[in-house]
Amino acid sequence: MTKPRRACLSAFIFFAVSFICAANVFGWGYEIHGYINSEAARLLPAEMKSFKACVEYLTLHSVDPDEWKGFLSGEEYRHYIDMDFYGAPPFAAVRKSLSGAMEKYGEDAVVSNGVVPWTIAEHCEMLAIFLRSSATSDYAMLCAAALGHYVADAHQPLHTTDNYDGQYSGNQGVHLRYEIQTADVFFDGSRARADNVKYVGDPLNFAFDFIIDAHDKISVILDADTKRGHNFRALWVDTADMTRKQVEKAAENLASLWYTAWKNAGSPRVEVKLTKTAGIYSDKDYQKMLALRDKLKMSGR
Ligand SMILES: [Zn+2]
Repeated sequence: MTKPRRACLSAFIFFAVSFICAANVFGWGYEIHGYINSEAARLLPAEMKSFKACVEYLTLHSVDPDEWKGFLSGEEYRHYIDMDFYGAPPFAAVRKSLSGAMEKYGEDAVVSNGVVPWTIAEHCEMLAIFLRSSATSDYAMLCAAALGHYVADAHQPLHTTDNYDGQYSGNQGVHLRYEIQTADVFFDGSRARADNVKYVGDPLNFAFDFIIDAHDKISVILDADTKRGHNFRALWVDTADMTRKQVEKAAENLASLWYTAWKNAGSPRVEVKLTKTAGIYSDKDYQKMLALRDKLKMSGR
């Protein structure tokens, strides 16, 4: 690992320790977020070489959406969903558009219980819009990196439940113990497969499918935490296999969504120069990206 990444990780852990108790903050640490984005780029078909060429950028910016929480209104709700609020699997009633869900459950309830599936579907659509024009290819990579972040978060089981920090099961503090002190430190690679990358007809339903699959793994973490006396080193013994599989699935599912967006854009040969976003990266870039999406949508491009 290079020095800058270690520096990033230190800063990230400090940030995590500072804020982890306040909200359902992170999906994974920097190491796993970066790994998922870089693995997804590796899994893409050869014709998507412009994505593959941006692997370093996609890796470096894999945790940016966590930083946006500090200054972007509503960003904190884009990283999780408390599926418990919506009943029991297969959660058919909530598989709707965001406006449909808000109509059924109320806007405040939907937002406060987290909107990660809709954020994923929205970014998949945005990515296709940006890829259609070479003028916006820089924003495409920014959007792709962000999509990777949200997809990764949605595979972290504790990001799919109201009991995200074990506060209702006698596992207080398990969020930090599992994702930062255990998974991000001990994770040693997965075996994601390129032949699992596929075109996705309905990204929102696809997102709900992998979120519900992650939701099913919550007890693996909580039971291990209880059994191992809340010791983060021992926690890895019982969570290693599940974690590797979740990371593997996240990389494959992210690659599928990138591939889907690229197909929906007409399989363009994109020359990405990263001029707009390669410099100082800030919230303004993200705001510009959102504004640009709306403009492109309006002009029908
Ligand atoms: Zn996050």
